[in-house]
Amino acid sequence: MVVTHKTYGEGTIVKSDDKYLTVSFLCGEKHFAYPHCFYNNFLEIKKDINMNNKFLHMIQSVIFGHAVGDAVGGPVQFQPREERDRYPVTDMMPLYGQSLPKGAWSDDTSMSLCAMDALTKHGLDFDAVMENFRKWLFGNEFTPTGKTFDVGRACFKAIDRSRNGNEAEACGCHGEYENGNGSLMRIYPFSLYLYRFDFSLDEKLDLIHRASALTHAHPRSCIGCGIYTFILWELLENPTKQGIRDGLKRAETYYKDRHELYHYHRLFEDNFASLPRDEIKSSGYVVDTLEAAIWCLLTTDNYRDCVLKAVNLGLDTDSVGAVAGSLAGLLYGYEGIPEDWRNSLLKKENFEGIGKQFCEKLLS
Ligand SMILES: [Mg+2]
Repeated sequence: MVVTHKTYGEGTIVKSDDKYLTVSFLCGEKHFAYPHCFYNNFLEIKKDINMNNKFLHMIQSVIFGHAVGDAVGGPVQFQPREERDRYPVTDMMPLYGQSLPKGAWSDDTSMSLCAMDALTKHGLDFDAVMENFRKWLFGNEFTPTGKTFDVGRACFKAIDRSRNGNEAEACGCHGEYENGNGSLMRIYPFSLYLYRFDFSLDEKLDLIHRASALTHAHPRSCIGCGIYTFILWELLENPTKQGIRDGLKRAETYYKDRHELYHYHRLFEDNFASLPRDEIKSSGYVVDTLEAAIWCLLTTDNYRDCVLKAVNLGLDTDSVGAVAGSLAGLLYGYEGIPEDWRNSLLKKENFEGIGKQFCEKLLS
């Protein structure tokens, strides 16, 4: 961002926090830095800086909210609900079966980091996203321990197809029985990226659908990612339960002529949040995962309870936890995510770094 100082003229902000900023000025052919200057010297830009810091904070809350939900749910993935009723999860814990320490995250987070890294470096280049998916799946990159584990069937098929020189957008799975949550669980980087861009609503949703279609190309998965995106966009503006309801309303209006919307009809009914737990499924089917995540968001009032409620539904606990956790991060803010859970995440510094670079890309 370019700012003006009455003595030094035009400068570019290179660093800022709540009180100070460092500005780089061009003086003749040379740059010089003006470090630690009070906002007061730049009163006219204080509002923008605060808004940018707030946006960075919100992005970090989605990234951490998502990864923490994944890490809390991972150790009990695919165990039945009855097991959770007997032994409820109350904290983040290690994944004993695979000897993974507390704070390990899975494919949901790995694929999201792949997307964020590609968007930061290359913009909306789906081939670059797919290349990162390959680095993850076959090269052990973007993993918490240096070893890839946990990949869904459709994701594997699509990424494997891309190895034969196929364009990324030609690799996704189209079958009705290939509507797992594998695109919903990694869509948030695209939702955040498109929020800031000056495209029409149709263009933005088309890009969300294409991002889903890299692995999950059936309209049901694409629409699921669209509904999630509408909610995330509303929560960026209005982080309240009403924001969730407004996002659902916008999604319902936008997709009203799409037959596939029928599969999500319960989300738009007034009594959705009042449905008993027995009627909320938490499988890896995209509709079940989105319903479970939103139901947990609407029926709890803090991050910890929301993620634990999601995980204790059983079955696809890491993905339901991740999807619910990403939106709960926005709803309750970064500080609302328990500090010990945030600090336990493996490679925590990577999240902070990738989030900051991603944010800088969006603000540039
Ligand atoms: Mg997973």
